Amino acid sequence: MQNSQLLEIAKDFGSPVYVYDANIIEAQYKRLTSAFNTVKQLKINYAVKALSNISVLKFMKQLGAGLDTVSIQEVHLGLAAGYKAKDIIFTPNGVSLLEIETVAKLGCQINIDNLSILEQFGTKHPETPVCIRINPHVMAGGNTNISVGHIDSKFGISIHQIPHILRIVENTKMNINGIHMHTGSDILDIDVFLYASEILFETAKNFKNLQFIDFGSGFKVPYKTGDIETNIEELGQKLSQRFNEFCKEYGKPLTLAFEPGKFLVSEAGQFLVNVNAVKQTTSTVFAQVDSGFNHLIRPMLYGSQHEIRNISNPEGRERFYSVVGYICETDTFANNRRITEINEGDILAFSNAGAYCYSMASNYNSRYRPAEVLVYNGQAHLIRKRETFEDIINNQVEIELTPKDKKKLVTK
Ligand SMILES: *Cc1c(COP(=O)(O)O)cnc(C)c1O
Repeated sequence: MQNSQLLEIAKDFGSPVYVYDANIIEAQYKRLTSAFNTVKQLKINYAVKALSNISVLKFMKQLGAGLDTVSIQEVHLGLAAGYKAKDIIFTPNGVSLLEIETVAKLGCQINIDNLSILEQFGTKHPETPVCIRINPHVMAGGNTNISVGHIDSKFGISIHQIPHILRIVENTKMNINGIHMHTGSDILDIDVFLYASEILFETAKNFKNLQFIDFGSGFKVPYKTGDIETNIEELGQKLSQRFNEFCKEYGKPLTLAFEPGKFLVSEAGQFLVNVNAVKQTTSTVFAQVDSGFNHLIRPMLYGSQHEIRNISNPEGRERFYSVVGYICETDTFANNRRITEINEGDILAFSNAGAYCYSMASNYNSRYRPAEVLVYNGQAHLIRKRETFEDIINNQVEIELTPKDKKKLVTK
């Protein structure tokens, strides 16, 4: 998207606003499927939690994706977007047995990552096919908050507990149709990923009725030019070959599944904010914008470095700015960042604002969540209205509590 178009969108739909480029989503989807084009049965299940707007889900469906969901509400969103239940995989962690049973009844593929739940579910519903989430205890790199494959992780059933799994499967006669792993959020080293895949193949041999092997996600995307990213093409070539070999060993063609979130939508998103004020202190120049961690929490939560461009003055002289939000709490988007000269009223664009940005937004400070706009082939479409005061007050129940000794408390 050109700066001129982004400025137009900020003018037409107001700020702050999330803007997603559907052409980038489409290109990423094609890049992933092309990388694995030697695999006969490939299934891409988009991870809804990255960006869950229903119009984005519908677009993913047009591209041919299924969905990866982590809550029953995401399942309902997927169904509302027109997905068939069989194209939705449910991969929750720490949810109740009842929630899993309810989703199973809807017809979705269940993925279980806990021995206790596996046993209870298998005992009650031996006829329902279940996928098992394995923890291969491999760290795929990145920030420890997002590496979910290592030994202390709450995700998956440890490979050291395979004998327990097999005992449960044997006792309940349940049907295991898939094996899954999701090693973490930043695959930098393809060999580490391939190593984890070998563990999954080894595990898969224990189950005779598999239909698919799900390799999760965690593809790293670049945040700025020169950033390291997962080499999808190399991964595709190496894993496809190994997967095809494995299917021969296994004696039957299986589906290779992935469930990317970030890879499909991160780079498609731009977050546009307006500069309310420029504040010069003794040491720093702050650009204070009409947003905060209520709208984009990743820099404060994980230290994510979203690139920030001043699209109102892209050719200006570069200066150092700390870009901060309007939340009454430390609320820093960027520290001493080199940005072209900022004036009050300028529009700043944050890159990589597609994944885990709007979906993590809140009403903290009683602010409205932003609007969302989806652009396809140059055409901008509003896909979520900015909230209004109605949304803030809607579910609140007003009561009047009168303290007994009111007179003493009230000071004139
Ligand atoms: C969050 C999540 C994903 C998506 O991860 P990305 O890093 O956004 O690609 C995939 N699978 C599961 C089970 C997840 O929890």
